Amino acid sequence: MSDTPKWTRPLNPLQNPRFGDLATFNRLPYLPDIKGKNVDVAILGIPYDGGTSFRPGARFAPRAVRDASVLNRNYNPHTGSAVFEKLNVVDAGDVAVNPIQIQKTFQAIEARVSELQNEGARTICIGGDHSVVLGELRAAHKKYGPLTVIHFDAHTDTGDQAWGEKYHHGTIFRRALEEGLIAKNSLFQIGIRGPLTSSAPDDFAAAHGIRVLDIDQLQDAKKADAFFANIHAAGKGKPCFITFDVDGIDPAFAPGTGTPVVGGMTSREALGFVRRLKGLQIVGADVVEISPPYDQSDLTALLGAALMFEFLSLMSEVR
Ligand code: MN
Ligand code: MN
Repeated sequence: MSDTPKWTRPLNPLQNPRFGDLATFNRLPYLPDIKGKNVDVAILGIPYDGGTSFRPGARFAPRAVRDASVLNRNYNPHTGSAVFEKLNVVDAGDVAVNPIQIQKTFQAIEARVSELQNEGARTICIGGDHSVVLGELRAAHKKYGPLTVIHFDAHTDTGDQAWGEKYHHGTIFRRALEEGLIAKNSLFQIGIRGPLTSSAPDDFAAAHGIRVLDIDQLQDAKKADAFFANIHAAGKGKPCFITFDVDGIDPAFAPGTGTPVVGGMTSREALGFVRRLKGLQIVGADVVEISPPYDQSDLTALLGAALMFEFLSLMSEVR
């Protein structure tokens, strides 16, 4: 598919400058109703931060990332991907979230992602805090069955509850495992680091077959190679989902986030690790936890836009 229709191409900056027009993702067409349009990938904003436990603000990320993404381009020299010649991509707008009811927001996300999937599109979402991934995973599971999940984060997000609440941004992978959304031994967590309240997350990971490449192991090339070989072994030919919590990256590179943890990946390391997922069948992806009110010079929003371009590059390589 090297001849996608011209209407799905990003606006040409040599004719329309990057700082002009309405900021859709990557200057792509805005198209909430994709019925009959043969869309391969729909970009979807999820402006919800009611699952946040510390600094709020991620509800403003979809707009900030769209603004930053006007600097994205069309060709990825690192993966050899002519993204928009291979994929019809549109900006499908935002989910109509309920800002004060997490269950209603989960339902709205699941329904909207399913609607786009049922028109043949894969989705790349801009959160939102990390709780939004549960709605995306429920929709993807309904369409594709149990998923291989590649999860970048400083945190494991496998807590049980806080303040009596089972659903918030620190519990969603425990809930996803309980709901059977993730295939056996197919949750891979990258960039995890402490300090922690206790050793409970390690014990939970060991008991549930979660594979973790923590920040120390990640610096060891042999361990990182073995870990990515395991991802490819588990995920080969199966539906894979990437969820990228931007706090997996060091706050020096990603200051605009709600629960920062020092000592993380550089942005260059993160891009390199995402590129190592080439060859997997990525059925959905997201970038979450960007909080524009805490950002500096749009650094974190730019990083989010760049990560999403890498996801598009991966999707353009495997159909
Ligand atoms: Mn996190
Ligand atoms: Mn998270």
